[in-house]
Amino acid sequence: METTRTAVIPVSLSAADYRRAHQACHISAQLWNQATDFVHTRQKEHKDPSKYDIQHFLTALPEECRPLHAHTTEIIAHDLGEAIKTSRANRKKGMKVRSPWRKKNYRPLSFTKGYGWRISQGKLHLSLGRKRSRIDLTIPVVFDSGTNEVVPADLWGEIQLCWNKDSRCFSLHIPYETERPVSPGDNVTAIDEGIINPMALATWVDDATICVTIINGRGGRAIKRQRNKAIGSLQRKLSRTKIGSKKHRRLQAAKKKVRAKASAQLRDFDHQLSRKAANHVITHCTAKLIAGDVRGIERKTKLERRVGRHMRQQLSQWSRGTQERYLGEKTGLDLEHLNESGSSKTCPKCLTRNRPSGRHYRCKNPACGFTCHRDAVGSINILQKAIHGTYVPIGTDTEICVTYLRATERWSLDQRNAHRKVQSRKARALSSAQNRARWEETPACEPKLANSSTGPDSSVPGPLATVA
Ligand SMILES: [Zn+2]
Repeated sequence: METTRTAVIPVSLSAADYRRAHQACHISAQLWNQATDFVHTRQKEHKDPSKYDIQHFLTALPEECRPLHAHTTEIIAHDLGEAIKTSRANRKKGMKVRSPWRKKNYRPLSFTKGYGWRISQGKLHLSLGRKRSRIDLTIPVVFDSGTNEVVPADLWGEIQLCWNKDSRCFSLHIPYETERPVSPGDNVTAIDEGIINPMALATWVDDATICVTIINGRGGRAIKRQRNKAIGSLQRKLSRTKIGSKKHRRLQAAKKKVRAKASAQLRDFDHQLSRKAANHVITHCTAKLIAGDVRGIERKTKLERRVGRHMRQQLSQWSRGTQERYLGEKTGLDLEHLNESGSSKTCPKCLTRNRPSGRHYRCKNPACGFTCHRDAVGSINILQKAIHGTYVPIGTDTEICVTYLRATERWSLDQRNAHRKVQSRKARALSSAQNRARWEETPACEPKLANSSTGPDSSVPGPLATVA
């Protein structure tokens, strides 16, 4: 089965091209705004313009209003048409959405294959229309993220030139077709998602063993907390400055920088996390991925007074959707959702409902006495529900193998301090008389000196020469 992936490649533009691209992005946004206005006036007349009507409206504008390639303008019209269609479909599903209305300031530029973009004389040319100079770029190298092979340029689709907010530079978005990985087995893996442990995955390995992988989200939480604190303090300073003043501008720039850095770090974190989850999925030959449905948990938390303000912030900044998407891309599987109510409270052995405190789950039924990690319990229950349709007790002699992983191999401050303490203790131990004696016994210094004198640096008059 084929699937489309998009490679994001940062590019550096020459000063003139940078200015041209910047201006064109603004113009692209203006055209979008004009097109939405056109749609709204037509809708007030109870008419429903199609994407071709929008296209006719845009191409009928005078030439100097749209200094872009004709296809770039067409794509703006088609994008708007698609956005209206999607909003309508979502409204039918009962979601509260409006058809596009927001005024845009910046929009990416699209270049169609063979017309908008072309490769000649060792350069990639992006056209801004007839009689206008092009944007010339060195030909980027696109790697297939699944196979790690180079994708030739004739397999690329419609290229977009976008402003990348994270790296604060322009980047090319190049779509290409690739094979979807196919799972060799037919196992079911259940995922319990959370804030402290973003993913806990459970799979039946054989009739008596469940493998659980719990991935810790400490690195991600640390990045978010650091960002929130930095932005909070900048915001407090900003509130004391005058809008437009030098200080105000500086603080705004600092805020952007903090945001950009944190989002780049979080992107990396989400990728590392989903890679570890994907490894569990692939090694256990999974054909079906099921997750507990926690979508929309972040909504209306204040209105319904469900959680406190710290938890509210954590919930609204939870990048669960992104992590799910990355996992889907890495495994080639579609994630399904299922109602997970009570999954982390129910005992998987006797189905008693307990209220766990902390991360450890202990069954209060005296005849059972089951204990396990709380997130492992959640994922096991979701797994049973995914297979049997309801919570079914696992056998009494079922073995649960829990693996704890950290999404990113980074040390916490406590760990680093502990390590430093151990290191300094070691150093102190080495300086003790007993150790000094041991060091003096082994003639480690002499061969070193001999080596350095025969080495390539021997001709250079170093400290050795001064000694001699
Ligand atoms: Zn129990």
